[in-house]
Amino acid sequence: MTAMSSAELVTAYIGIGANLGDASAQVQRAILQLGKLPDTSLDAQSSLFCTAPLDAGGDDYINAVARVKTCLSAHALLQGMQQIEQDFGRERPYPNAPRTLDLDLLLYGQSTFADAVLTVPHPRMTQRAFVLIPLLQIDPFIVIPNHGPAHQFAPLVVDQVIHKI
Ligand code: ADP
Ligand code: MG
Repeated sequence: MTAMSSAELVTAYIGIGANLGDASAQVQRAILQLGKLPDTSLDAQSSLFCTAPLDAGGDDYINAVARVKTCLSAHALLQGMQQIEQDFGRERPYPNAPRTLDLDLLLYGQSTFADAVLTVPHPRMTQRAFVLIPLLQIDPFIVIPNHGPAHQFAPLVVDQVIHKI
């Protein structure tokens, strides 16, 4: 990360998933790439988790959550994330298709907004064990703007198969 004013620093959380190719290696490499985005540093990363596909076919997923500190705007961060997806050969043949890499912006500081390309907090994050469990591993007391403490949603996803690898 280049020199920057701490007043502009935002803590953001990114959900990472893959279920094509060497998914574990891709998730691990993607986390390192997030820390190499301009004006961004990797702050924390969860363990890797194996999860059954939700609303989709294909192989099991490898998932993780990364916490970054960034001076990028939320949209610039999303663009950087999408460039990393492209670098990993991401294709979108149909919704919920298996993917070499999926990067979702979960939280961007305390921001809440929705436009044509970006909704923050990520609208489905409270319903997904593969987001909540890694997120709570790195920040057990994290509060989701407009939703409240993330841990209160964990009991609602206990039927989703997830295990730490
Ligand atoms: P999904 O992750 O839902 O399976 P994609 O990765 O193909 O699907 O993302 C579809 C679109 O979702 C992206 O083009 C992006 O503009 C939009 N999007 C909206 N909010 C977010 C967010 N918080 N994080 C990532 N993408 C988002
Ligand atoms: Mg996505």
